[in-house]
Amino acid sequence: MNPGDSETIHVPLLDVAANNRPLREALRAAIDEVCDSGRFILGPVVERFERAVAEYCGVGHAVGMSSGTDALLAALMAFDIGPGDAVVTTPYTFFATAGAVARLGARPVFCDIDPVSFNLDPDAVAAYLARAERRGGHWCDPASGARLRALLPVHLYGQCADMARFRGLAAEYGLHLIEDAAQALGARDRDGRRAGALGEVACFSFFPSKNLGGFGDGGMCVTDDPALAERLRILRVHGSKPKYHHALIGGNFRLDALQAAVLAVKLPHLDDWIEARRRNAAWYREAFRAAGLDEMLTAPTETPGCFHTFNQFVVRAADRDRLRAHLDARGVGSEIYYPVPLHCQACFAELGYRPEDCPEALRAAAETLALPIYPELGEAQRRRVVDVIADFYGRG
Ligand SMILES: *Cc1c(COP(=O)(O)O)cnc(C)c1O
Repeated sequence: MNPGDSETIHVPLLDVAANNRPLREALRAAIDEVCDSGRFILGPVVERFERAVAEYCGVGHAVGMSSGTDALLAALMAFDIGPGDAVVTTPYTFFATAGAVARLGARPVFCDIDPVSFNLDPDAVAAYLARAERRGGHWCDPASGARLRALLPVHLYGQCADMARFRGLAAEYGLHLIEDAAQALGARDRDGRRAGALGEVACFSFFPSKNLGGFGDGGMCVTDDPALAERLRILRVHGSKPKYHHALIGGNFRLDALQAAVLAVKLPHLDDWIEARRRNAAWYREAFRAAGLDEMLTAPTETPGCFHTFNQFVVRAADRDRLRAHLDARGVGSEIYYPVPLHCQACFAELGYRPEDCPEALRAAAETLALPIYPELGEAQRRRVVDVIADFYGRG
């Protein structure tokens, strides 16, 4: 390659089309099959995909949902969480995690994150729970008096939160344990078990940017508890069982047969794609070191014993916003996940949090930057990302 060639390399943050292209024929055949069958709502294609995901996660049951957001909503509804209740979660996540809690009239309680993994910090949760008040046989949020009902950790960026600790805390305080595993299908915890098998119920998303992405919205709840799975199945069809008889109030939370067909074609490739992401991550780490960037850029690490799926490769960067503008001007995509921690969002102002209540989430929001990591990312593109960053810090 000529020295000038690298200038013309554009590196998008994500390339969904490149991911689907090699599977075009199989995807079209799967879509045709659904179209020809005329069964677009639930049915055998959805059931087959549910069984495949349950097996993949090592759990007994999977219930296809219309999105990751609706999977969270249904999981919370299955535990009857609503007004007067509180759910402990992380402020450093996609909005849906806490949005689902608030939409049901319950109160999100935000505890700070671990600065290395960016996941909800079990020590912060333990310290908060130690201040909980016992009222009428229940543990309550000291600020509002709301009854504490569940812990909702997120496996952020594709790496499991410290679920062993959260299982212990959930048992100690009588709380449900829900995994927001939207970014983490395929991730493994220290005990080797997959995300989805680490709490009472887990919620996945098949949004196109996730490691297993559909052709639109989709999600899933997985659980080992057959009664809970049945409740989720009823909630996803307006709480109807039998048809037109409603003991529960649910919603329309169904996964489309067309999405299930597409996702079933893609699932067998997921492990290869995760391996490619992990190879890209290892390559970046080495290249940053070789370029002398370690002081300005902290690459993400894998929690010892865990298996990270790198849905996102998120660095901490000195002078983050100017670095991002520099990358953008040179055709390198990046994104900030997430620029405003949830405890600082305007819609949650009435919860009464101050920014400094979760200092690590606040610092992460100011310092983190996601770089291109998708499986099809080639070496020339990775090289370009590192060169542009090195150029910004004067190490080019
Ligand atoms: C993507 C995501 C969701 C929501 O999933 P959708 O399918 O987009 O509704 C929830 N939580 C986290 C952490 C996510 O990354």
